[in-house]
Formats: sequence, structure tokens, C-alpha cells
Amino acid sequence: MGGAPTGLSARFSKQSESALPPGSTAKSAHGVRNRGVRSISLTLRTEHSEPRCAYCHSPERLLGLPLEVDHIIPTTAGGRTLLANLCLCCRSCNGHKWQQTHAQDPQTGRRVRLYHPRRQQWARHFVWNRSGTRVLGATATGRATIMALRMNNALIVGL
Ligand SMILES: [Zn+2]
Repeated sequence: MGGAPTGLSARFSKQSESALPPGSTAKSAHGVRNRGVRSISLTLRTEHSEPRCAYCHSPERLLGLPLEVDHIIPTTAGGRTLLANLCLCCRSCNGHKWQQTHAQDPQTGRRVRLYHPRRQQWARHFVWNRSGTRVLGATATGRATIMALRMNNALIVGL
């Protein structure tokens, strides 16, 4: 199977929350939380040889905008500001994902969880089309995530 973990995902899974500075996970003060996010953002950047969106895999160098830190499970749904719940993603995926945690699989109509970049392997849920310009869903999670995040929008496909 082509789902062997990349160096990136392997490094993700080995990261622990202890890598964060003391106090960075405190939830009571926004300032403390923001410092934690900035620190995590730097950590995420050092994990990538070439930073790219955790969802659509668009490389940052082609996006024209810096990647953003995404709460994979939104804070409004109980997600915490910890490395295990954060990833770098492009503005488009982040904006379309917003506070969603589930979406409908367009093939079956079932409502399923969105792809979780920290817990799941990208290559298990997504494949590239022959020309390498469009992401195709290999699973219900992949298909639902592509639709919800509009991962094949014209701007990204045109990169
Ligand atoms: Zn993206």
C-alpha cells in the first residue's frame, strides 16, 4: 500500500506536548495561548522540509500567503491548543473548514469525520489525478474533506 508514513507524519506522531514552553497550554489567558500557538507554528515549520498545507498539500512557496495554524478539532468543538491538535494549512482550506468537524461523503451521503492530519495518513485518504493537479478522495473521509474544504478550487488547481 502506498500509505507508508512520510518523514513528516512520522515526526508528527513522535512530537509530544512537552516540546512546548511551560505555560503555553494554559487556556485562561489569550496572551499565553497565542504565545503557545506561535511557538507551535515555529515547531511545525521546522518539521517540514518544504512547508505545505496539511490538507490540499499545496506548497507554501506557491501560495503567495503564509500557511496558517489550524485547530484540527476547533476550539468550539473542544479542541485544544496543543501540537497534537494543530497543523499548518493554507488560507483556503482553513477558511472553508472553519468550525467543521464532519461533512457529507458525496458518494454515499453519509456524514463522516473530516481528515485529521495528525492521526491519519494523507496517502490513505487522498490520491492525485494523473496530471497531478487535482486531489481525489480514496475514502469517505477523503471525499468529504475534499468537498468541505473545496480542495480542488480553481486557484489551487491552477498552481
Ligand atoms: Zn490547503
